[in-house]
Amino acid sequence: MASRILIIEDEEKIARFLELELTHEGYEVMKSADGREGLDLALEGGFAIILLDIMLPGLNGLEVIRRLRKSSDVPVIMLTARDAVMDKVSGLDMGANDYVTKPFAIEELLARIRVLIRNKESNEITENRKVLTWGKLTLDSASHTVEYEGKAIDLTKREFTMLELMLLNKNIVLSRETFIERVWGYDYMGETNVVDVYVRYLRGKIDDVYGINMIRTVRGIGYVIKDESK
Ligand code: CA
Repeated sequence: MASRILIIEDEEKIARFLELELTHEGYEVMKSADGREGLDLALEGGFAIILLDIMLPGLNGLEVIRRLRKSSDVPVIMLTARDAVMDKVSGLDMGANDYVTKPFAIEELLARIRVLIRNKESNEITENRKVLTWGKLTLDSASHTVEYEGKAIDLTKREFTMLELMLLNKNIVLSRETFIERVWGYDYMGETNVVDVYVRYLRGKIDDVYGINMIRTVRGIGYVIKDESK
């Protein structure tokens, strides 16, 4: 199956050029000329790479990557202007994987795309083959599925990441701040009681349904999943 690439770029000429070149290389291409729309598309997932301009209508590229990184690790290559050093630094800080400077040589961009796709594939094979369990519950990091007695439990991405974090750290009490950092990202500005809300969601979908006491509250500190025997 062809890898899909999302181009978020408002300069029609550049977007068209990229589309032609990438399609010619066998990629499937989708385009957006608006930051907000581009972010929505990116969040829907299914892209091997995202090419992201910085100066965009709707939402600028730096804001797009900041929001995208809260829930997605899809590789992002920024398309930056030659003199915009700060954009490059900020973009990389916010989680962009790479950048090319406009005007860029298409061969260089294609090479960078190939590297990122290859890295992602090898990471998926080596890192993500993990199945975590608690009693009759299993969480498969590769397929992003959670089951109880073989029956699928439908979790949102955040709920899944929270559960995974607790199962990876069994018997260790995790503070709300830790959850915020690891699940929402360092730059989350909201209240930490969002963690309590999500724990409630998780219990509603798992503990309450199966009559178990998996996620424990540690008053004043946070939450923990202990070994099932404890
Ligand atoms: Ca632009």
